[in-house]
Amino acid sequence: MYDLLLKNGLVYLDGTFRKCDVAVKGEKIAAVLDSGDPYAEAGQELDLTGKYVLPGIIDFHCHLREPGPQIEFEDWESCTKAAANSGVTMVCGMSNGLENEMTDAATYDKAVALAEKSAVVDFMIAGCPMGFFGGKEMPTRSPFYKFKQRDFPGPLGDSEGTANSWYMNQLFEEIAKQGKYVQIHPMDMDYHNALLEKIREMPGEKTSLSIFPYYYGEDEMAAGIWHLAYYARKHHLKWQALHCWHRAYIDVIRMLKKQGDMDLLASIEFCPSNGLSDHMKDLVTGGTIDVGHCELPEWDYVWEAVADGTIDLFGSDHCPQSRENYYNPDAFKSSKGIPGMDCYGHLLLNEVNNGNLTMEKLVQCTSENGAKAYGWYDRKGSNLPGTDADFSIADLNEIWTCGEEKIYTKVRIHPYYGMQIKGRFIYTIVRGKIVMDHNEILVQPGHGKFIS
Ligand SMILES: [Zn+2]
Repeated sequence: MYDLLLKNGLVYLDGTFRKCDVAVKGEKIAAVLDSGDPYAEAGQELDLTGKYVLPGIIDFHCHLREPGPQIEFEDWESCTKAAANSGVTMVCGMSNGLENEMTDAATYDKAVALAEKSAVVDFMIAGCPMGFFGGKEMPTRSPFYKFKQRDFPGPLGDSEGTANSWYMNQLFEEIAKQGKYVQIHPMDMDYHNALLEKIREMPGEKTSLSIFPYYYGEDEMAAGIWHLAYYARKHHLKWQALHCWHRAYIDVIRMLKKQGDMDLLASIEFCPSNGLSDHMKDLVTGGTIDVGHCELPEWDYVWEAVADGTIDLFGSDHCPQSRENYYNPDAFKSSKGIPGMDCYGHLLLNEVNNGNLTMEKLVQCTSENGAKAYGWYDRKGSNLPGTDADFSIADLNEIWTCGEEKIYTKVRIHPYYGMQIKGRFIYTIVRGKIVMDHNEILVQPGHGKFIS
């Protein structure tokens, strides 16, 4: 007798989807059976005819606010509920802003302990290696590291340093010794600051809608990548290149992969680079917040890079900010991050329906590839017997309107309100427990486990 039987679904196995049944016992997949196996009995059965059973989606890049001064608008409970709501079974959380980065082992352990109490899906936390420059012990429990290129110490000892070759050389040598991947956001702060000065001098009113299209541009990011690539390759650093969506950036990654002598992953993150939301709904006031998009990539070129394997991973870049920041009248200081987690998984299904990626690619980029790189495979990222019973179950045909559903992000801002999309995650199952059933969260905080 099994605990849970997923019947008649299209199950991802050996790189493709096949109709079969999946039996769960405790936290693990007990067996994969022929569809309609007459001898299989279980305490609970779900008939998933026509639905897709994906290995649990891992969000490889999202921003949490706990611990930190901003937990009033997102914490581990609210963020992981939002994740489960869109089919995500594990989040790779990180802070941004150096004031609450996980730059040392003690801070890191504190964050893990907090998350263990309140997460509803599994999680890891990306440590930040920049404490190296302050003589701190790096958070070695972190399965991978993350930082922005601009975080290198500046000439005055602040964090506004940028593509600093001297520091980069030392840090990469140090991280490479640990054999861990490091996610790096290419960003040239000198370029960025000079660009802002230029925009200030331009005629006309400055709003987030007029300014943000200049941010995260190809000229800044692609140049940063050449710089990072030299030192990463020199030190045999395992490198995950973040935000790989501009043509010239993709071209460099494609070239390096072809060369074949680096451990190199590339990822795209969906908010706000997707340009799907320039106006968010404030669910508290009923008003609208203009957020604006960054310099848009050529999306056809990006999807080609996903199809040919240049891009390996996806992340939500869920990035809630304080309400005051969104409403800051100084557009140069207002926030750009979008709290998109509640819709992230559903939007990926919509992209499948738009013909931009296959369901198989979706699985590879949301779980399989990353689980393999980070050493979690096949516990995570597969539907094989004996592994964690994590499933993201999708109805590819449902057409619905964002905003009709309940959302769980604490900041109460909906970036995709009113948008019609096709495809929806209807169940999220984490280690055998149904965490989300059609927009309802069914487990208590603390179900999530730290995955190292
Ligand atoms: Zn981010």
